[in-house]
Amino acid sequence: MSAGEAFVTLATTDSYCKGATVVARSLRRHGTTRHIVVMVTLNISEQSRKGLENIFDEVITVDLRNSEDQLHLSMLGRPELGVTFTKIHCWNLTQYRRCIFLDADTLVLCNVDELFQRDELSAAPDPGWPDCFNSGVSWSVGDIGKHLPFIYNLCASSLYSYLPAFQQFGHQAKIVHFAGAVKPWSSQRDHSRSHIMEQFESLWWKEYHCHTMPPVPNTHPTPSRQ
Ligand code: UDP
Ligand code: MN
Repeated sequence: MSAGEAFVTLATTDSYCKGATVVARSLRRHGTTRHIVVMVTLNISEQSRKGLENIFDEVITVDLRNSEDQLHLSMLGRPELGVTFTKIHCWNLTQYRRCIFLDADTLVLCNVDELFQRDELSAAPDPGWPDCFNSGVSWSVGDIGKHLPFIYNLCASSLYSYLPAFQQFGHQAKIVHFAGAVKPWSSQRDHSRSHIMEQFESLWWKEYHCHTMPPVPNTHPTPSRQ
């Protein structure tokens, strides 16, 4: 195991802890050799924290940061996302030589350890505005080598060209990102979600349930010691 490199995610609420769980499980399922780390804030419940401690190599408490950028957040229709600025703590994880940050609403479909060969700061394009990367920070426009292919950030999109492109390239998808207000674990449903994303959502639930179900009780009678 390469202890110098880590996949990192973030959960500031119990709800996003569910997502983080699936990030870790899907990374492990596909045999990552790197550490899997979650940054959390103090307000998550003890139960959620314990759950994360069982799956992650490291659970690191960080202080909540808020971009306070109400103007742009309300334009996005997601006023609650100011806290995503807390991701910035990833750069404080200097015990690791290199980190790959994955949102807690991502699902890894295959081994993606090759991402550690990329230079800082590589990122996938934002599907809404592909000249920006998905965490909202601009990257040097000159270096195309730092643009990760879309297969590392497959997002739902209602763009009319999406389905033909998906048919052509979808099988190459490596990471699915459930970007948007409705997450697989949300109680409300997103009726505009495409059939494709619904399939990935089922996969998300499979990953979530597969490991969180209590062990099947042993129905065989235990031999008596007497
Ligand atoms: N996040 C969090 N708590 C919140 C909102 C966001 O921990 O209340 C983290 C979580 O890792 C999440 C990421 O910030 O995946 C970005 O938010 P989200 O995925 O909801 O944004 P979207 O991808 O939908 O734009
Ligand atoms: Mn996200």
